[in-house]
Amino acid sequence: MRIAMISEHASPLAAPGTEDAGGQNTHVAGLAAALAALGHDIRVYTRRDGPDRPPMVVTGDGVGVVHVPAGPARALPKDALLPYMGEFGRRLGAQWDGDPWVPDVVHAHFWMSGLAAVTAARPRDIPVVQTFHALGVVKRRHQGAADTSPPQRIGFERHLGRIADRVVAQCRDEARELTRMGVPRSRIALVPSGVDLDVFAPEGPVAPRTARPRILSVGRLVERKGFADLIRAMPYCPGPECVIAGGPDPAETERLRHVAERCGVAERVRFAGQVPIAGMPAWYRSADVVAAVPWYEPFGLTPLEAMACGRPVVASAVGGLLDTVVDGITGDLVRPRDPRALGHTLRRLVDDDMRCYAYGAAALDRARQRYSWPRTAGRLESVYRAVAGRSVAAVAR
Ligand code: UDP
Repeated sequence: MRIAMISEHASPLAAPGTEDAGGQNTHVAGLAAALAALGHDIRVYTRRDGPDRPPMVVTGDGVGVVHVPAGPARALPKDALLPYMGEFGRRLGAQWDGDPWVPDVVHAHFWMSGLAAVTAARPRDIPVVQTFHALGVVKRRHQGAADTSPPQRIGFERHLGRIADRVVAQCRDEARELTRMGVPRSRIALVPSGVDLDVFAPEGPVAPRTARPRILSVGRLVERKGFADLIRAMPYCPGPECVIAGGPDPAETERLRHVAERCGVAERVRFAGQVPIAGMPAWYRSADVVAAVPWYEPFGLTPLEAMACGRPVVASAVGGLLDTVVDGITGDLVRPRDPRALGHTLRRLVDDDMRCYAYGAAALDRARQRYSWPRTAGRLESVYRAVAGRSVAAVAR
């Protein structure tokens, strides 16, 4: 099949680990490569965010990454991109009109890509599959006034949920949210993200260690990822060091440093900065325990990457982490935003080598059995086949 993926702000070519580049970039890169390996013809359309971006780059996996001119050719925060989505959609449509490469299905990632996808695909009767990656209603619930999303987001997401041929939920919690938003259950497909098991594996280089046991946490340095809660938990977990990988936001790093100083744990908290994704497995392997303690989490790739490296995970009991981490088997689930409970849980686990080993082995097994890219790509391939040629628009006519 010819499959067009739209990922307006998250290019598979960009390095994740900054404010607007993270799991979606990793996901789109992994999914595109896995679908190409199944023999599909894949193009990923992303916004041209620099003057030197060529119209199309073909990756080593044979995926075409197309830079669509829409708005200024420079990096912009994702929350500022809405005004350019109409232009993005029109450019996409124009490309497909003048090109023998017309997709059989369009898969949009994030709500703004959905708007561009619908603009281009609907008039040409091409079916649209939508993955939101994050939902405005959930973000608003947790962040309130601090949410910088355009105010139209929630309304547009509801609309997209109703008109897309399929909406992919990445976890059961997201499926519930989508149902509450009015997306018909029959149009929701539950397909979790995959993880690259060739890259994220227990064997391989290990980042240098100190004499202390290591608790590692990885992610974009944004408040909702709960790094401050992890630092506040460290006084309840004496001994281990806490390494935080992700960045690069100097203001957030500074804020977290102050938290560590106030808690009296500054000498045990270390910031590794942004790590290139190729270097991430070595960091996971160097950890005794990986902590992923966000306030909320649409899916959460980092715990899965840690599991694929055979590491036990302590995670907040929210969103996608409720599906990936099995409490008492592959890790421990804790209440979000509760540093004392988190600290006690970490302490019990770090002090118990046997449990760490058993969790790590079960985590590796779970990642390999359920979250390989070929498996996820195969399930999405079935979704694409189900909608190809049977779009809602076609049925309505
Ligand atoms: N990541 C990275 N370098 C960093 C921090 C994070 O490559 O310094 C990657 C991490 O390995 C994962 C992604 O960014 O693939 C984060 O995905 P996740 O789903 O955990 O969070 P999101 O960014 O979607 O909120």
